[in-house]
Amino acid sequence: MIITLKKPVGDILQMLNGKKRVAIIGCGQCATICRTGGEQQVEELAETLEKEGKEIVFREVIEAGVCYIPESGKVLERIPEADAVIVLACGSGAQAVLEFDDSFNVFPGVDTKFLGITKEFGEFYRKCSLCGDCILHLTGGLCPLALCPKNKVNGPCSDSIDGRCPTLELAGVEDADCVWELIYKKTGKIPEIGMDWSKSTLPERITLQNVAKRKARAR
Ligand code: SF4
Ligand code: SF4
Repeated sequence: MIITLKKPVGDILQMLNGKKRVAIIGCGQCATICRTGGEQQVEELAETLEKEGKEIVFREVIEAGVCYIPESGKVLERIPEADAVIVLACGSGAQAVLEFDDSFNVFPGVDTKFLGITKEFGEFYRKCSLCGDCILHLTGGLCPLALCPKNKVNGPCSDSIDGRCPTLELAGVEDADCVWELIYKKTGKIPEIGMDWSKSTLPERITLQNVAKRKARAR
């Protein structure tokens, strides 16, 4: 899931400086699980903004996810004229709103952190950097791209000390194990990884047609 954290209300108010009529869109998927964009957070933000003199002209949580335009469009088309649309969803959700209608004045209500897992509420772990060429089968299921702050894919860097990562330690990470130490412990070796960077999806747009064409070219 996409992990998001609430933006401080002060930041949101600063963004909305000079805007009066405000719509708030929440997301029924990841942002609801992260408690950043569910019903309660939409209501709380609406109440706060009203106290600050804003007029809330629309508020709704899109159950199917803001980023799924075939469903979210049915909600977005009902937004009345507004000076600002605050989206309590990941950056992709916020941009989906703009993709649907580029006349919307979109404002992010949350900060998008990473693609990861929730062990229990409030404990989020980064797990994937969306590289486009998953190599977890070579690494014992541990992702060096997501877990190494330098994205090393060919073994540990020279900073690694006794299996610890000084960069992570400096950043205050509690379990600052070098991911390559963990991979070594799990697989008994430093695997050779031939990343196929041509599979990287940045910054393109994927259509299933494109993928089929690529496969045909590769044959
Ligand atoms: S190897 Fe790539 S796709 Fe697989 S978990 Fe890591 S970043 Fe994600
Ligand atoms: S010590 Fe390990 S995890 Fe840290 S930057 Fe170097 S290779 Fe990456």
